[in-house]
Amino acid sequence: MKPSDSFSTPMRTVRAVGELRRALSAARREGRTIGLVPTMGALHEGHLSLIARARAQCDLVVVSLFVNPSQFNERSDLDAYPRQEEQDRRLAGEAGADLLFAPSVEEVYPVGFATSVEVLGLTDRLEGAVRGSSHFRGVTTVVTKLLNMTMPDVAYFGQKDAQQVIVIKRLVEDLNLPVTVEVCPTVREPDGLAMSSRNARLDPGERARALALFSALEAADRVAADGERSGETILGHAREAMRPFDVEPEYVALVDPYTLEPLERLDRRALLAIAARIGGTRLIDNTILEPSPQTIAISRGEARPTSVAA
Ligand code: AMP
Repeated sequence: MKPSDSFSTPMRTVRAVGELRRALSAARREGRTIGLVPTMGALHEGHLSLIARARAQCDLVVVSLFVNPSQFNERSDLDAYPRQEEQDRRLAGEAGADLLFAPSVEEVYPVGFATSVEVLGLTDRLEGAVRGSSHFRGVTTVVTKLLNMTMPDVAYFGQKDAQQVIVIKRLVEDLNLPVTVEVCPTVREPDGLAMSSRNARLDPGERARALALFSALEAADRVAADGERSGETILGHAREAMRPFDVEPEYVALVDPYTLEPLERLDRRALLAIAARIGGTRLIDNTILEPSPQTIAISRGEARPTSVAA
């Protein structure tokens, strides 16, 4: 679908919630569909793929740009987070966004702000275990606010942040939020490194070592495809693949893709999630593993599930 007439280029930037609502109200009344792509800016091809998907599926595309302080557990990470609004505005517009919502911290968290949204259990694991409970509380609170501010029909998130997607789907279901969550595949550099705004902080040596994460995922994929079912063995291969890069994972885990409970065996679809620090930069990545078709056929006489969509 094409950008709607009232939102033709140059793309408009709004900073206040009232302004955002006014900008969307006519479209909503006329029954036009609204897509929201929440981002923290420093846009790269990963973000742009979400915007392109929204453009293809919705009449109006809103991109939010907000570096959310409450989800950072380290002040230094927040301070070092890249900020480049002018470039982001241009890239978002070129990718098909109609409206950039770039609120200030005070607009999102006015004086007296006292409410938070918390998803229990799922947020204690993986990223939550390392970054503490405040990280996901920050994410779920700001995502709820952005959904309430924009009231989109569809909100777009990346599989790159697999746990975030699982937590947000839970939140949307538990709070009966009237929005469809659309998950888009991870976009990678040609050598496999998952695109991330934090990659810009890697020096050339760190950039080379950052490939440890993708190599671990590839190694796990390979042994799983060869029929390996033991979680320990699969994770061992993943860890082993990181060694030549002199990178120790913070965690590498095989978990249920809905509950995030650890899996001892790859008897069904599983999420392999990984995090590692490369110098001062923390990177995450993941892949979906399925038991290989031969081993399913041999051990159970069943067909392999065809969908690997998150
Ligand atoms: P961020 O700006 O890092 O908060 O990311 C905004 C959205 O873009 C989130 O839904 C991310 O999962 C998604 N995203 C970030 N990196 C990628 C990537 N390499 N491929 C696909 N989506 C991504």
